[in-house]
Amino acid sequence: MFKIVSYLPEKYSDKTICVIGPGFSGASILGTEKTRWKSGEFARPPKARGDNTSTYQYPTLEIGGYAFGSIPGFNPDQIIARGDSVSYPFGATHLYARLGLPQHDKLSSIISYLERVPGGLLTPSGVSASHLAVLFNLPKNGVILRSNPIYDCTRSAFETIYPNWNIQVHKADFTDLVKLEEAIIKTKPHKLYLETPANPTMAMIDLKGVYELAVKYNIDEIIADNTFASPIIQKPIEIVDGDPYKKIRIMHSGTKHFTGGMDGVCWGYVSLKDWKEFLPMFLFQKDMGFNMSGLDAEAVLQHGIPTLHLRVKDQSANALKVAQFLSTHPLIKKVNYPGLPPFKEMADKQFTGNGYGSTIYFEIDPEKLKAEIGGNDQTIIKDGERFGDILGLQSFICLAVSLGKMNTLIENSWFMVHRFMNEEEKIKSGISPFGWRLSVGSEDVNDTIKELTTIFDLLKNRNFQAKIDDMKHMIGKPKGLN
Ligand code: PLP
Repeated sequence: MFKIVSYLPEKYSDKTICVIGPGFSGASILGTEKTRWKSGEFARPPKARGDNTSTYQYPTLEIGGYAFGSIPGFNPDQIIARGDSVSYPFGATHLYARLGLPQHDKLSSIISYLERVPGGLLTPSGVSASHLAVLFNLPKNGVILRSNPIYDCTRSAFETIYPNWNIQVHKADFTDLVKLEEAIIKTKPHKLYLETPANPTMAMIDLKGVYELAVKYNIDEIIADNTFASPIIQKPIEIVDGDPYKKIRIMHSGTKHFTGGMDGVCWGYVSLKDWKEFLPMFLFQKDMGFNMSGLDAEAVLQHGIPTLHLRVKDQSANALKVAQFLSTHPLIKKVNYPGLPPFKEMADKQFTGNGYGSTIYFEIDPEKLKAEIGGNDQTIIKDGERFGDILGLQSFICLAVSLGKMNTLIENSWFMVHRFMNEEEKIKSGISPFGWRLSVGSEDVNDTIKELTTIFDLLKNRNFQAKIDDMKHMIGKPKGLN
C-alpha cells in the first residue's frame, strides 16, 4: 500500500526487490530512509513483531476512538512525507485484519514496485480482484467491454451475475483493433477488460493500440489481467509509456506465479491508477470484505516472492524449449506461445526481455492421430482424451489446473477450466477439445521434453490403449460418472 514507484526504479532491480523486499520494513522499501533502530530497541524478530493479529489494543478508549475516527481523513502521503512508522494503528490500515496488516502493505508494495504503479490492494482471490477492479468507481448501469477468451469463472460472473445488477458486459475481438473500435462505438463502454496473453489460448493483444482507443473514446480505464505473464515478463505501464492518461489498472491472480510452489494459497491484487484512489478503494474493500488473509500474505512474502524472479525466468527459458519441441512434433497441429510466430513480434515489443512466459497452448492434430491409429470422427475425441489419461496415470506432468507452480502442470480447457462455456463459443474463441494448456515448471527441461515424447509415442500406440483402459478400470469412477 505504500507509494513506492517514484523512489525505487533506478535504485534496485526487480530481482533484488523480490529477494530483499519481504525482509524490509515499510519505511526502507519506500527508499526514504534506512530502518532506524529506536532507542531502547535492542533486538527485533525478523518479521514485524506482533503484527499478525486481528486487532490492536489501545491504552484508552479515547485513543481507540481516535484510531477509528482517523480513517476518513487518512492521507498516506503525509505518513510517507513524515517517514512515520505506519505500523501504529492510526489511519486507514492496521486496525483490524480485514483493514490490512503490515504483511499486506509489504506484499502490495512489492507487486506495485514490480508493476511500476503507485500502489495496490490485495484481495482474497484473483476473481475477487477482477470484481474489485470492475466495480470500483463503475457508474450505475455500467458498461464493460471485454476480450475473449478470458478466465472462465470471470466470464461466467460477467454473464450470469452482472446482468442482474444492470451491468452490461459485452465481448469483442481485442486482437483486431478495427473490430474493437467498432465495438467501442457500438457499446460505449466505461471500462475495457482484457487478458494478454489470454487464458487458455495465449492470444496476445496490442496493449498500446487498445490504449490509444481508450484515450480517443474517453474510456475510464483498461483493466489488464497480467496473471499469465507476471510483471517479470510484461509491465503494462511501460508498454503504454508510463500511462500518461492514467487509464491502466492492473490485476493479478496472486495464486499463480507470485505464490509459486505453495498450494492452498489463493489471493489477488488490484493496482491504483493514482495514489489518490487509495482511500476510496480501501473503503470499498473494507466495507465489501475484499481482503486477503494475513497468514497467506506472510507465507507468500516468505516463500513466493523471494523466488519469483528466478522461477519465472527459469520456467520461461524451459517453456521456450518445450514450445520449440512441440512446434516440430508431427502430431501437433498448432502451438500458441509468445516466443513463437505469430505472437513473437508483439511479444518482443511488449515484453521485458526476461523470456516469453511459462505457459503454452497446443493442439494435437486429430487427422494425424487418425492416420496413426485408425479410428474415425466419432472415436477421435476419445482417442485425443487418452493423452490426458496417460498424463494422469503415468507422468510427472500433472493433469491439474493452475500455473506458475514449481512443477509442470497441464489441463484441457475444453473439458476442464472452460467446461461451462458454450461449445460454439469455445470453438469461436480458439479453444479445441484437442487443445492443452501447459504450464512449464522448473524440472530439467530435457526430462520434460523426453516425457512429452514418450507420451506422444504412447498415444500413437493402439496396444498401449488397452493398458490405459485396464488402469482406468482399476481406479473406477466417482459416483455419477458413467
Ligand atoms: N485471471 C486469470 C488469467 C486466471 O487464470 C485466473 C485463474 O485461473 C484468475 C484470474 C482467477 O484467479 P483465482 O483462481 O486466484 O481466483
